[in-house]
Amino acid sequence: MRATDIIMKKRGTFIRSADGTQRLTGSTSLTRDEIRFLVDSYASGAIPDYQMSSWLMAVYFNGMTFEETGWLTDAMLHSGDVIELHGREKDGLHGPFVDKHSTGGVGDKISLPLAPIAACCGVQVPMMSGRALGHTGGTLDKLESIEGYKVGLTPDTFRKLIAKTGFAMTGQTKEIVPADRLLYALRDVTGTVESVPLITASILSKKVAEGADALVFDVKYGSGAFMKSVPDAEMLASFLVKTAGAMGKKASALITNMDTPLGWKVGNFLEIEETLECLQGTGPEDVMEETYALGAEMLMLGGRAASKEDGAAQCRNAVSSGRALDKFLENVQDQGGDPGRLLAQQGKRRSPFHVTFRAKQDGYISVDAYLTGLAGIDLGVGRSRTTDPVCPDAGFILHAKTGTVVKAGDAVMEVYGKDEACLTPACARLEQAVTYSSEKPEDKPLICSEIHQ
Ligand code: URA
Repeated sequence: MRATDIIMKKRGTFIRSADGTQRLTGSTSLTRDEIRFLVDSYASGAIPDYQMSSWLMAVYFNGMTFEETGWLTDAMLHSGDVIELHGREKDGLHGPFVDKHSTGGVGDKISLPLAPIAACCGVQVPMMSGRALGHTGGTLDKLESIEGYKVGLTPDTFRKLIAKTGFAMTGQTKEIVPADRLLYALRDVTGTVESVPLITASILSKKVAEGADALVFDVKYGSGAFMKSVPDAEMLASFLVKTAGAMGKKASALITNMDTPLGWKVGNFLEIEETLECLQGTGPEDVMEETYALGAEMLMLGGRAASKEDGAAQCRNAVSSGRALDKFLENVQDQGGDPGRLLAQQGKRRSPFHVTFRAKQDGYISVDAYLTGLAGIDLGVGRSRTTDPVCPDAGFILHAKTGTVVKAGDAVMEVYGKDEACLTPACARLEQAVTYSSEKPEDKPLICSEIHQ
């Protein structure tokens, strides 16, 4: 087999009509063996980035069938080891093993409070997450902003921590889904993130490799999501739920809005700080609403809640009793951080490169999630190249959210950068992200629909 032939088969060809218009046609479905060959060869280094990038772009434009998507997921999953959690009851791994994954957003820190909350309510959470992707933030980058925190756990340590605390947080490694580790980083910098089959395979290969039996997907739609419309998000949700089912996993999805950043804080350490607030009972309304809804769904899939109301009440109780905060801090300690130092930094650790972004006009403001996410890349929250480091202390603290009335000159957000120079381009981007109107913007529900198996 040759990579070039597989790329061309997926790419198809351009047909030029008599009126000069062009149309892409003739892309054909790949076989299971072709997909396996590409993924294995890329993971072993036999296929270079430039060929894989070209194939990714062909998939971006032509898509994949449901069957191809399943084969891609399976090939990525088996590019490394799969973590077995079953049959280890004597080691404290009793299950049910339930996890949640978001398709990515801006200010979306929900995995961070949710894992300890769910663990307090009787499910075990094996959480394998990703890094910043495109304009969206990454759970691993956020966790690594905690001094000393390690995300590259060995399967043994991952299992031990789940048994001990009820949850553990890790990332793709050379051993576990190495193909996703490489493809995720390549897609991030080649404009090939927003693809239903590529997102499905990326998420599911990680989630099946980590050993979860049941999965809740938070599929975002809106300007700051990879899927811009509700129908596109529902299509991605159906692919995720259906492919998970075909792989023997229980699954459901909530479709949630991502037109504007979630919560008041966006950035790596800033979102850890907001996680602490969520667990201390002072979290933002939107973050808590989504956290409890997703938590309830996790508990129902895991057989630990009789209804959504029961699940949400259990999650609320885990926060109000302080148990979820204790669990989060226990995990910080277990994974190399210092809980005392983390709490001492809360509200104090800030980048010295700072500016206040002020309203230019009077009116109702709207804060666009996508443009805020791009400004975040300028500041160092995310990456422009795979090798770029992220800045733990870069980001935004919002003073006003979409729908707030402001006066010209009011502080809209505090902006923190990796250096002085990045503040100017980031603020230029924010000039576009923040818009003003004399009419109140439409109040969209945070949770828009659900997909079940
Ligand atoms: N999250 C992932 O893990 N992968 C994607 O491709 C998008 C969101």
